[in-house]
Amino acid sequence: MTTDDPEVSVSNEAPAFSDESSFSPEIAAAIRTVREDVARLHGELVRYDLIVWTGGNVSGRVPGADLFVIKPSGVSYDDLTPENMILCDLDGAVIPGTPGSDRSPSSDTAAHAYVYRHMPEVGGVVHTHSTFAVAWAARGEEIPCVITAMADEFGGPIPVGPFAIIGDDSIGRGIVQTLSGHRSRAVLMQNHGPFTIGVDAKDAVKAAVMVEDVARTVHYAREAGPLIPIPQETIDSLFNRYQNVYGQNSDARR
Ligand SMILES: [Zn+2]
Repeated sequence: MTTDDPEVSVSNEAPAFSDESSFSPEIAAAIRTVREDVARLHGELVRYDLIVWTGGNVSGRVPGADLFVIKPSGVSYDDLTPENMILCDLDGAVIPGTPGSDRSPSSDTAAHAYVYRHMPEVGGVVHTHSTFAVAWAARGEEIPCVITAMADEFGGPIPVGPFAIIGDDSIGRGIVQTLSGHRSRAVLMQNHGPFTIGVDAKDAVKAAVMVEDVARTVHYAREAGPLIPIPQETIDSLFNRYQNVYGQNSDARR
Protein backbone atom coordinates (compact mmCIF):
# COMPACT_ATOMS: atom_id res chain seq x y z
CA MET A 1 0.00 0.00 0.00
CA THR A 2 1.46 3.38 -0.99
CA THR A 3 1.25 6.53 1.09
CA ASP A 4 -0.96 8.25 -1.48
CA ASP A 5 -3.56 5.51 -1.35
CA PRO A 6 -6.85 7.47 -1.00
CA GLU A 7 -8.18 5.06 1.61
CA VAL A 8 -5.24 5.77 3.89
CA SER A 9 -5.47 9.57 3.67
CA VAL A 10 -9.25 9.60 4.16
CA SER A 11 -9.23 7.29 7.16
CA ASN A 12 -6.45 9.25 8.86
CA GLU A 13 -7.90 12.72 8.35
CA ALA A 14 -11.66 12.23 8.57
CA PRO A 15 -13.02 14.80 11.06
CA ALA A 16 -15.85 14.08 13.48
CA PHE A 17 -17.98 16.56 11.53
CA SER A 18 -17.44 18.65 8.47
CA ASP A 19 -18.40 21.95 6.91
CA GLU A 20 -19.88 20.44 3.72
CA SER A 21 -18.38 19.97 0.37
CA SER A 22 -19.38 23.49 -0.74
CA PHE A 23 -16.11 24.83 0.70
CA SER A 24 -12.64 24.09 -0.61
CA PRO A 25 -10.53 21.80 1.61
CA GLU A 26 -8.43 24.83 2.64
CA ILE A 27 -11.44 26.91 3.69
CA ALA A 28 -13.07 23.92 5.42
CA ALA A 29 -9.85 23.42 7.41
CA ALA A 30 -9.74 27.14 8.30
CA ILE A 31 -13.37 27.01 9.46
CA ARG A 32 -12.57 23.98 11.63
CA THR A 33 -9.65 25.80 13.27
CA VAL A 34 -11.71 28.94 13.99
CA ARG A 35 -14.57 26.80 15.40
CA GLU A 36 -12.10 25.18 17.82
CA ASP A 37 -10.51 28.50 18.78
CA VAL A 38 -13.82 30.31 19.33
CA ALA A 39 -15.35 27.46 21.36
CA ARG A 40 -12.26 27.17 23.57
CA LEU A 41 -11.76 30.91 24.06
CA HIS A 42 -15.16 31.29 25.76
CA GLY A 43 -13.53 29.40 28.63
CA GLU A 44 -11.09 32.30 29.03
CA LEU A 45 -14.00 34.68 29.66
CA VAL A 46 -15.04 32.40 32.53
CA ARG A 47 -11.48 31.94 33.81
CA TYR A 48 -10.94 35.71 34.04
CA ASP A 49 -14.37 36.29 35.60
CA LEU A 50 -15.61 38.51 32.77
CA ILE A 51 -19.10 37.05 32.33
CA VAL A 52 -22.15 35.81 34.22
CA TRP A 53 -24.58 33.15 32.97
CA THR A 54 -24.42 33.00 29.14
CA GLY A 55 -23.54 36.68 28.61
CA GLY A 56 -20.48 37.58 26.59
CA ASN A 57 -19.43 36.31 23.21
CA VAL A 58 -16.34 35.65 21.13
CA SER A 59 -16.19 35.50 17.33
CA GLY A 60 -13.41 34.86 14.84
CA ARG A 61 -13.05 35.63 11.15
CA VAL A 62 -12.30 32.69 8.84
CA PRO A 63 -9.04 33.62 7.06
CA GLY A 64 -9.44 33.66 3.30
CA ALA A 65 -13.25 33.72 3.31
CA ASP A 66 -16.06 36.22 3.91
CA LEU A 67 -17.17 34.21 6.92
CA PHE A 68 -16.93 34.29 10.70
CA VAL A 69 -17.73 31.92 13.55
CA ILE A 70 -19.70 32.95 16.64
CA LYS A 71 -21.32 31.19 19.57
CA PRO A 72 -24.98 30.16 19.71
CA SER A 73 -27.34 32.34 21.76
CA GLY A 74 -28.21 31.30 25.31
CA VAL A 75 -26.24 28.05 25.44
CA SER A 76 -24.43 27.23 28.71
CA TYR A 77 -20.67 27.76 28.50
CA ASP A 78 -20.21 24.14 29.60
CA ASP A 79 -21.97 23.00 26.43
CA LEU A 80 -20.02 25.06 23.87
CA THR A 81 -18.18 22.84 21.39
CA PRO A 82 -16.59 23.40 17.95
CA GLU A 83 -19.59 21.57 16.44
CA ASN A 84 -22.22 23.93 17.86
CA MET A 85 -20.42 27.17 17.01
CA ILE A 86 -22.28 28.95 14.20
CA LEU A 87 -20.87 29.90 10.81
CA CYS A 88 -22.12 33.23 9.43
CA ASP A 89 -21.49 35.42 6.40
CA LEU A 90 -20.36 39.02 6.84
CA ASP A 91 -23.99 40.19 6.90
CA GLY A 92 -24.50 38.03 9.99
CA ALA A 93 -26.65 35.45 8.15
CA VAL A 94 -26.21 31.84 9.29
CA ILE A 95 -24.83 29.57 6.53
CA PRO A 96 -27.59 26.96 6.13
CA GLY A 97 -26.74 23.28 6.46
CA THR A 98 -23.50 23.88 8.39
CA PRO A 99 -22.88 22.39 11.85
CA GLY A 100 -24.67 24.43 14.52
CA SER A 101 -26.94 26.18 12.00
CA ASP A 102 -30.08 24.75 13.66
CA ARG A 103 -29.59 27.23 16.52
CA SER A 104 -29.79 31.03 16.63
CA PRO A 105 -26.45 32.82 16.80
CA SER A 106 -25.53 35.24 19.60
CA SER A 107 -27.84 38.23 19.84
CA ASP A 108 -24.77 40.41 19.19
CA THR A 109 -24.08 38.78 15.81
CA ALA A 110 -25.12 41.86 13.81
CA ALA A 111 -22.60 44.01 15.70
CA HIS A 112 -19.78 41.49 15.11
CA ALA A 113 -20.71 41.23 11.41
CA TYR A 114 -20.70 45.02 11.01
CA VAL A 115 -17.19 45.21 12.44
CA TYR A 116 -15.89 42.47 10.11
CA ARG A 117 -17.50 44.17 7.07
CA HIS A 118 -16.01 47.57 7.82
CA MET A 119 -12.66 46.74 9.45
CA PRO A 120 -10.90 44.20 7.20
CA GLU A 121 -7.87 44.15 9.51
CA VAL A 122 -9.98 42.75 12.37
CA GLY A 123 -9.88 38.97 12.83
CA GLY A 124 -11.64 38.66 16.18
CA VAL A 125 -14.35 40.44 18.19
CA VAL A 126 -15.31 39.99 21.85
CA HIS A 127 -18.12 41.45 23.94
CA THR A 128 -18.61 41.10 27.68
CA HIS A 129 -20.40 42.88 30.51
CA SER A 130 -17.34 42.72 32.78
CA THR A 131 -18.05 44.63 35.97
CA PHE A 132 -15.53 47.48 36.12
CA ALA A 133 -15.55 48.21 32.39
CA VAL A 134 -19.36 48.41 32.51
CA ALA A 135 -19.12 50.76 35.50
CA TRP A 136 -17.08 53.22 33.38
CA ALA A 137 -19.52 52.71 30.49
CA ALA A 138 -22.45 53.45 32.81
CA ARG A 139 -20.90 56.85 33.51
CA GLY A 140 -20.03 57.36 29.84
CA GLU A 141 -16.48 58.08 30.98
CA GLU A 142 -13.34 57.05 29.12
CA ILE A 143 -10.64 55.32 31.17
CA PRO A 144 -7.65 57.69 31.33
CA CYS A 145 -4.23 56.30 30.49
CA VAL A 146 -2.51 56.47 33.89
CA ILE A 147 -0.67 53.13 34.11
CA THR A 148 2.15 51.92 31.90
CA ALA A 149 0.47 48.57 31.22
CA MET A 150 -2.39 50.49 29.66
CA ALA A 151 -0.05 52.60 27.51
CA ASP A 152 1.58 49.33 26.40
CA GLU A 153 -1.60 47.53 25.51
CA PHE A 154 -3.97 50.29 24.36
CA GLY A 155 -1.69 53.24 23.54
CA GLY A 156 -3.91 55.76 25.35
CA PRO A 157 -7.32 56.06 26.99
CA ILE A 158 -10.10 53.52 26.44
CA PRO A 159 -12.72 55.51 24.50
CA VAL A 160 -16.48 55.59 25.03
CA GLY A 161 -18.79 54.75 22.14
CA PRO A 162 -22.34 56.04 21.62
CA PHE A 163 -25.43 54.75 23.35
CA ALA A 164 -26.92 52.20 20.95
CA ILE A 165 -29.83 49.79 21.09
CA ILE A 166 -29.40 46.14 20.15
CA GLY A 167 -31.22 44.91 17.06
CA ASP A 168 -29.81 46.80 14.10
CA ASP A 169 -26.44 48.12 12.92
CA SER A 170 -26.18 50.88 15.50
CA ILE A 171 -23.90 49.02 17.93
CA GLY A 172 -21.59 47.91 15.12
CA ARG A 173 -21.55 51.40 13.65
CA GLY A 174 -20.66 52.90 17.04
CA ILE A 175 -17.79 50.42 17.51
CA VAL A 176 -16.36 51.08 14.05
CA GLN A 177 -16.72 54.87 14.30
CA THR A 178 -15.00 54.92 17.68
CA LEU A 179 -12.15 52.47 16.99
CA SER A 180 -11.28 53.36 13.37
CA GLY A 181 -7.94 55.16 13.47
CA HIS A 182 -7.74 54.72 17.25
CA ARG A 183 -4.94 52.75 18.91
CA SER A 184 -7.30 51.19 21.44
CA ARG A 185 -8.64 47.71 20.68
CA ALA A 186 -11.40 48.30 23.22
CA VAL A 187 -14.43 50.60 23.26
CA LEU A 188 -16.85 51.12 26.14
CA MET A 189 -20.29 51.37 24.57
CA GLN A 190 -22.15 53.87 26.74
CA ASN A 191 -24.53 52.37 29.33
CA HIS A 192 -23.66 48.92 27.95
CA GLY A 193 -20.12 47.62 28.10
CA PRO A 194 -16.88 46.75 26.36
CA PHE A 195 -16.40 45.47 22.82
CA THR A 196 -12.85 44.54 21.85
CA ILE A 197 -11.19 43.74 18.54
CA GLY A 198 -7.98 41.95 17.62
CA VAL A 199 -5.98 40.41 14.82
CA ASP A 200 -7.66 37.13 15.75
CA ALA A 201 -10.13 35.86 18.35
CA LYS A 202 -7.41 35.21 20.94
CA ASP A 203 -6.05 38.76 20.59
CA ALA A 204 -9.56 40.19 21.07
CA VAL A 205 -10.02 38.01 24.19
CA LYS A 206 -6.71 39.32 25.54
CA ALA A 207 -7.97 42.88 25.01
CA ALA A 208 -11.19 42.00 26.88
CA VAL A 209 -9.17 40.65 29.82
CA MET A 210 -6.84 43.65 29.84
CA VAL A 211 -9.58 46.27 29.58
CA GLU A 212 -11.30 44.85 32.66
CA ASP A 213 -7.96 44.79 34.49
CA VAL A 214 -7.21 48.46 33.77
CA ALA A 215 -10.82 49.47 34.45
CA ARG A 216 -10.56 47.91 37.91
CA THR A 217 -7.10 49.30 38.70
CA VAL A 218 -7.86 52.86 37.61
CA HIS A 219 -11.18 52.74 39.48
CA TYR A 220 -9.44 51.80 42.73
CA ALA A 221 -6.64 54.31 42.14
CA ARG A 222 -9.08 57.18 41.71
CA GLU A 223 -11.01 56.15 44.83
CA ALA A 224 -7.83 56.72 46.84
CA GLY A 225 -6.64 60.00 45.37
CA PRO A 226 -5.90 62.06 42.26
CA LEU A 227 -4.56 60.27 39.20
CA ILE A 228 -1.20 61.24 37.71
CA PRO A 229 -1.37 61.50 33.91
CA ILE A 230 1.39 59.96 31.77
CA PRO A 231 2.81 62.47 29.24
CA GLN A 232 1.71 61.74 25.67
CA GLU A 233 5.26 61.24 24.38
CA THR A 234 5.87 58.64 27.07
CA ILE A 235 2.61 56.88 26.19
CA ASP A 236 3.75 56.88 22.53
CA SER A 237 7.13 55.36 23.31
CA LEU A 238 5.67 52.72 25.67
CA PHE A 239 3.09 51.73 23.05
CA ASN A 240 5.64 51.53 20.24
CA ARG A 241 8.05 49.49 22.31
CA TYR A 242 5.37 47.03 23.44
CA GLN A 243 3.90 46.60 19.97
CA ASN A 244 7.25 46.15 18.23
CA VAL A 245 9.79 44.84 20.71
CA TYR A 246 8.06 43.07 23.60
CA GLY A 247 7.15 39.40 23.24
CA GLN A 248 8.00 37.08 20.37
CA ASN A 249 8.31 37.64 16.64
CA SER A 250 5.78 34.86 16.16
CA ASP A 251 3.06 36.86 17.98
CA ALA A 252 -0.05 37.30 15.86
CA ARG A 253 0.01 41.09 16.31
CA ARG A 254 3.45 41.50 14.75
ZN1 LIG B 1 -24.12 43.37 25.76
